[in-house]
Amino acid sequence: MSKDRNQSGNALAGELLAVACALKDHRLNVGASGNVSARCGDGFLITPSGLPPERYSVADMVRVTMEGDCKRDGAGGLAPSSEWRIHRDIYANAPEAGAVVHAHSPFATALACQRLDIPPFHYMIALFGGDSVRCATYATFGTEALSKNVLAALAGRNACLLANHGMLAYGRDLAHALAQAIELETLCEQYWRACQPGPPVLLSEEEMGEALERFRHYGAREFKASASP
Ligand code: 13P
Ligand code: ZN
Repeated sequence: MSKDRNQSGNALAGELLAVACALKDHRLNVGASGNVSARCGDGFLITPSGLPPERYSVADMVRVTMEGDCKRDGAGGLAPSSEWRIHRDIYANAPEAGAVVHAHSPFATALACQRLDIPPFHYMIALFGGDSVRCATYATFGTEALSKNVLAALAGRNACLLANHGMLAYGRDLAHALAQAIELETLCEQYWRACQPGPPVLLSEEEMGEALERFRHYGAREFKASASP
């Protein structure tokens, strides 16, 4: 069980704000783009809609139940992120997910506008659970259709691109989800640059299989994306 799931709402809200600010500081998000959530009790806590992180406070984080009801604890009574359905559907379908980060980061978004899956051009693709990072089919932001498309792209993965929109990553807790999002943006930049002289050499199925096997035991803690989040 993730650390976040045992935390009080207040401590978690503080972490949510810190991660939203970190996404801005790492230039993964600008203005009100993107959103962050973490599992909390029998639902989750999510950033408010339509505001950059410097314009909301810890008290403005919105609690959402798995049924989609929200408790606007903050004095301002702000609405939850318009993408709350994606966050809810990931928590409902991926028990290992403790936190979700969505960003409109420059290189991931540029590739997503080409509607490209990221192929196994680098072994670090294995960090996201498979031999590619898929691009979810386009649907309007904030819709159930987009959530369905994202879930399909996430099958067996803990990250995906969103066509003509951006990227999304989840992790066991907020620190892990943020780290995954930063890794994905880095890989997208590397892929973008590697494509400039022409298509890069891709790793074979066997080479990626070996990298994926090594990743099962790599690092301090194991984390495996659901087969069908
Ligand atoms: P919110 O401000 O509603 O979270 O929307 C930002 C976004 O990235 C929509 O996809
Ligand atoms: Zn978005």
